[in-house]
Amino acid sequence: MRRPIIAGNWKMYLTPEEGAALAVALAPRAAARADVDVVVCPAMPLLESVGRALAGASLKLGAQNLYPMAEGAFTGEASPKMLVALGCEYCIIGHSERRQYFAEKNAFVNAKVKAALEFDLTPIVCIGETLEEREKKLTFDVVGAQLEGAFEQISAEQAAGIVVAYEPVWAIGTGHTATPEQAQEVHAFIRLKLGRKYGDKTAQAMRLQYGGSVKPDNVDSLMAQPDIDGALVGGASLKVDSFARILNFKR
Ligand code: PEP
Repeated sequence: MRRPIIAGNWKMYLTPEEGAALAVALAPRAAARADVDVVVCPAMPLLESVGRALAGASLKLGAQNLYPMAEGAFTGEASPKMLVALGCEYCIIGHSERRQYFAEKNAFVNAKVKAALEFDLTPIVCIGETLEEREKKLTFDVVGAQLEGAFEQISAEQAAGIVVAYEPVWAIGTGHTATPEQAQEVHAFIRLKLGRKYGDKTAQAMRLQYGGSVKPDNVDSLMAQPDIDGALVGGASLKVDSFARILNFKR
């Protein structure tokens, strides 16, 4: 049985004070859902205040990005070592907004995955096709290539602990969620591909999240799909009640 994982991507929203207040409000709601891993991923300047607010809580802290070096002359970047020191246990890697606005390619995503693992940060690796790619029937090619790129030279043992988030770009922040059937189809493909690379046992143990306009009113039908083990939630993770309803999904 895979343990579900619901993560909130707060993107570039909230001040450090607002983030800490949201974390404090969410912590008991996450604690009440003891069978689910719940993670919040605030922007870098919020990590310290949110981390402090979450000390000792079951609600976990994640970052939205890292630079794949322990330290160095990389102005404006943050290393996995720093993120761990701030209390992070997870890190979103390869989000489509980073691929789109910061030109991140699969090889760079792979370097970040390796750096996260080196520092015991659990990567949440994001993959997904654009609308144009879907319309050209390239979804499986694109998702397959992103998956292969991200998992290059990653062992089965390492892969077992990685979370993959399938996030169709056309569904992110648009209100157009993939139907449960569309999402399941791609999740099944991802698990099949992981199984070919790492064997069925590892693939069956790996957790796959769906992301893209997940809301209180669609989370149950998405989570009812056999290969959907969680959600990566953007907009709806910024409000206590909507995120609390999402982590209280029913199957
Ligand atoms: C995201 O940022 O990963 C995301 C899925 O956003 P939203 O839920 O707002 O579509």
